[in-house]
Amino acid sequence: MCDPAVRRRSARTADESKKPPSTADELRAKYDTDATGPVGGANGPRFDGPEPVQPCTRINLAHHVVVFAAIAYSLVTHGCPSLGVVAFMLWYADAYTAVLHAALDRPGCLDVKILHGAARGFQAHHDYPLASTHGRGCYRMICDTQRIQTITIVSALVFGRWNVATFQICLMKLLFSAYGGATGHFYAHGGAKPRGPAIKLAQKCHMLLPPKHHVGGHHAPPHDKNFGIFNGLSNYALNPFLGAPMNPPLGVLLAAWAALSLFDVAVVERCVGPVGEVVGRGVATALELARSSVSM
Ligand SMILES: [Zn+2]
Ligand SMILES: [Zn+2]
Repeated sequence: MCDPAVRRRSARTADESKKPPSTADELRAKYDTDATGPVGGANGPRFDGPEPVQPCTRINLAHHVVVFAAIAYSLVTHGCPSLGVVAFMLWYADAYTAVLHAALDRPGCLDVKILHGAARGFQAHHDYPLASTHGRGCYRMICDTQRIQTITIVSALVFGRWNVATFQICLMKLLFSAYGGATGHFYAHGGAKPRGPAIKLAQKCHMLLPPKHHVGGHHAPPHDKNFGIFNGLSNYALNPFLGAPMNPPLGVLLAAWAALSLFDVAVVERCVGPVGEVVGRGVATALELARSSVSM
């Protein structure tokens, strides 16, 4: 009996021999010859190539310049946000990419007109992991996040309270989820290509997505775990909720993604003060208890 995956692959190869060479074919030939194992969900659709690489625009560049200028301005005028908030945002930014990714990986998303292109990109990535990362380039992947960054900024302006915390949390979400997500995912597919010691160290410390965690975890069919693509930190908590055994319906994933996209910055900003106070009181009480036990 022939393995169905092998049968599918040879059928695809036979079809492809009839086609003239295209950018997608060239990319796959160049980058996916060492792709890891059979990819593509057991029952998922098959794609005839990675999405075409669109050129980056001046609007993309202008957007990045404005975001990084805002980050520099925020650091100079308001300093670094508290360590607790940064730590939470490092985790949350990964969780946001996980919810987005879990929704876009569902075949049902291909039928949602507004999400079709993004869903196709995510699902074709399972079939062409290297062509759709190294074949595109890190900067192109970052530019692909501009639309979701715009939604984040507009949502923060509409629902946030326009204070320093709103500004800092919005910028951290852009920096970690969008820029970090694209960069983390790009380097998780680094293969044997030189990544540099700083990237390797960040991957080891889970500050960027570790290759084994992503390629060995998410890219193994049925692609139902390790959806977080920034640093993978949220995957340990979210795997049971986004994949098996829960496998939430697509509607639930889309509703969660929409709610987070609209309200996350505003909610986190409103929680920073009260949670900080509770944590501060807890730390002060613990220190007081420790001091009194030492003096006894
Ligand atoms: Zn995926
Ligand atoms: Zn990947």
